[in-house]
Amino acid sequence: MQVCTAAMTYGFKIVEELISGLSQWMDEGGHESVASIVGRAVPNIRDWQDLNLNYVTKAVINQDACIKCGRCFEVCEDTSHQAIFDVIDGARGFKVNDAECVACNLCVNVCPVDNCITMTELPLGEVDPRTGKKVTTYANWQSHPNNPATSAAQ
Ligand code: SF4
Ligand code: SF4
Repeated sequence: MQVCTAAMTYGFKIVEELISGLSQWMDEGGHESVASIVGRAVPNIRDWQDLNLNYVTKAVINQDACIKCGRCFEVCEDTSHQAIFDVIDGARGFKVNDAECVACNLCVNVCPVDNCITMTELPLGEVDPRTGKKVTTYANWQSHPNNPATSAAQ
């Protein structure tokens, strides 16, 4: 297990919260030892080369739920792709710029309001405003034209 973003966002003190949170989760689930849960996520692991490179999502902010704390803006601005506006119609507000969003998911992770930001999949055929290309069917690293060694790239 590794932690990166949480330590970047909250500092190393987050480790103490991770320990207490894990302990509470184990108590609630009746897990007596860390050893008893080691390896349970392994069946979910996929090879990177099998992932669908044509799976395109964009972060969407629910304006009714947003409390305008600005955390999504800070994290996207400083450590991702500067894809969130912090002004809407001249007033403080937060909205995703689809032309820049790369779907890194960071904003979702730091938002303090449950389900306020959701990653929404673009349907087949829709143009991704970031790349200007239509969303097409499944293609992994073996077949995607981004790989210069594939026939699709030649
Ligand atoms: S998903 Fe990433 S790139 Fe997109 S708005 Fe959120 S933090 Fe920015
Ligand atoms: S982090 Fe969430 S609540 Fe805060 S401004 Fe962004 S969308 Fe709104």
